[in-house]
Amino acid sequence: MSSGQELKGKIAIVTGGSRGIGRAICIKLARLGTHVLINCVKGQAVAQGVMDEISGDGGVCNLLPFDVADPEASSNAIESAIRDYGGVHILVNNAGITRDVLLARMKIEDWERVLSINLTGVFNCTHAVIKAMLRQRWGRIISIGSVVGAMGNIGQANYAASKAGLEGFTKSVAREVASRGITANVVAPGFIETGMTARLPEKLKRQLLSQIPVGRMGRPEDIAEAVGFLASERASYVTGHVLHVNGGLFCD
Ligand code: NDP
Repeated sequence: MSSGQELKGKIAIVTGGSRGIGRAICIKLARLGTHVLINCVKGQAVAQGVMDEISGDGGVCNLLPFDVADPEASSNAIESAIRDYGGVHILVNNAGITRDVLLARMKIEDWERVLSINLTGVFNCTHAVIKAMLRQRWGRIISIGSVVGAMGNIGQANYAASKAGLEGFTKSVAREVASRGITANVVAPGFIETGMTARLPEKLKRQLLSQIPVGRMGRPEDIAEAVGFLASERASYVTGHVLHVNGGLFCD
């Protein structure tokens, strides 16, 4: 294990950990010594690849499949994980989807599906861990937002609303639980090379790239580094914060 073991003994749940940014976060947290519980819904075979990589690197992980949009499934899975593994110290709310369409053509289903995973999913999982974290008097809640939550974006009114919403949620939770050793923060990525952005037309990607001062799209590992810091003891005085990791695309 290469990055030290500063989070040894901690249990971390990473939603949407099977691929993309979530995958990199699982690998980073495992390298920091956490026992990682990898969540996803459909991609359990893909998640096996993440498990193999973590195990091959000497880390510890298990699969924890459930749909974050389903409140009962989320609380049942998380409560049984807390019982089975003896607690939960870190929650990374990473699962997210897009259903891009101009507002004039957006259907209520496009709105509700994005909000139910990206925002209600964050509520469902945070609600399920909070009592255990309060009892432990230690916890880290890190939610993956987006630069789009701050800037807005054509065709993403649903997605932008969900990501702006989780910032308000996080700032409120941060105030509620700060006195119990629990921090709540958002990491807001810019444009990162994953399956989500692979779908974008080449012309749009070139346009986006021209607006990024660092001159490249982000890598999942860029986001995982920020999450690793916020999960650590070193970040115990950072709470209610939105950490933008976007190569300078947007400066808050
Ligand atoms: P991917 O599409 O590559 O991966 C999404 C992950 O979420 C998968 O593991 C998927 O697993 C999981 N997921 C989707 N729906 C659910 C659900 N209902 N319950 C549990 N898990 C679910 O996305 P990215 O890695 O690109 O994005 C990760 C996060 O980062 C998202 O919140 C996204 O909004 C955010 N983000 C991404 C950016 C980018 O440029 N890529 C930019 C800004 C923010 P499965 O489908 O198997 O269930």
